[in-house]
Amino acid sequence: MASRSSPILLVEDELPIVELMSFALRSAGWEVDSVQNTADAWNYLQQRRPQVILLDWMLPDQSGLRLLSRIRADRNFSTLPVIMVTAKGMEEDKIAGLDQGADDYITKPFSPRELVARIKALIRRKAPEHAELEMSMGPLTVDPVSCRVSVDDAQIDIGHAEFKLLKFLIAHPERVFSRSQLLDKVWGDHAVLEERTVDVHVLRLRKALGKADFLVKTVRSVGYMLSEK
Ligand code: CA
Repeated sequence: MASRSSPILLVEDELPIVELMSFALRSAGWEVDSVQNTADAWNYLQQRRPQVILLDWMLPDQSGLRLLSRIRADRNFSTLPVIMVTAKGMEEDKIAGLDQGADDYITKPFSPRELVARIKALIRRKAPEHAELEMSMGPLTVDPVSCRVSVDDAQIDIGHAEFKLLKFLIAHPERVFSRSQLLDKVWGDHAVLEERTVDVHVLRLRKALGKADFLVKTVRSVGYMLSEK
């Protein structure tokens, strides 16, 4: 099974639906965590960064929409992919959800296949570093499913942290990221890492890449990028 770096968070109070969703998502290879109200969801987000949130509309403490606006208003979470889960036929809910910054919505009852397809589409669109497509640049190829990296078709040894960093950079080619953006997006969360940790991993990444090391560019006083230019 593919190793994916972060879980999908279900915020849903109806346990049969939690079970149905969890089964479908785990079968598709994702790790799944679930909470049953918005307060627990917010606490969860202080600990871990999910790759996608499936957010039910009707929750016992507050509406899912309230949680969504709180997520979107927070600098740390503003870009987190969120799919709202709505009851059938609530057209105005869908519109309100999209207005508040939901990336997509799915209507109950849904098929597990549709759920998985929607999540994959959203990940491809919003977080390509979590997608499963092989990515390449110049002599370098990264396969997110097998976690293999090769340079000119020869597989190289690479540490886990460097792999995550590389996967993120190659998913966003020709774009410069600051150290704090990389900490946030690669290591997720509010980790206790310092910005110079990023420099250490970049150093190791360049070493691991050997003759493809020129692809990792330092952009002075800004950060790093992966670029062929
Ligand atoms: Ca509910």
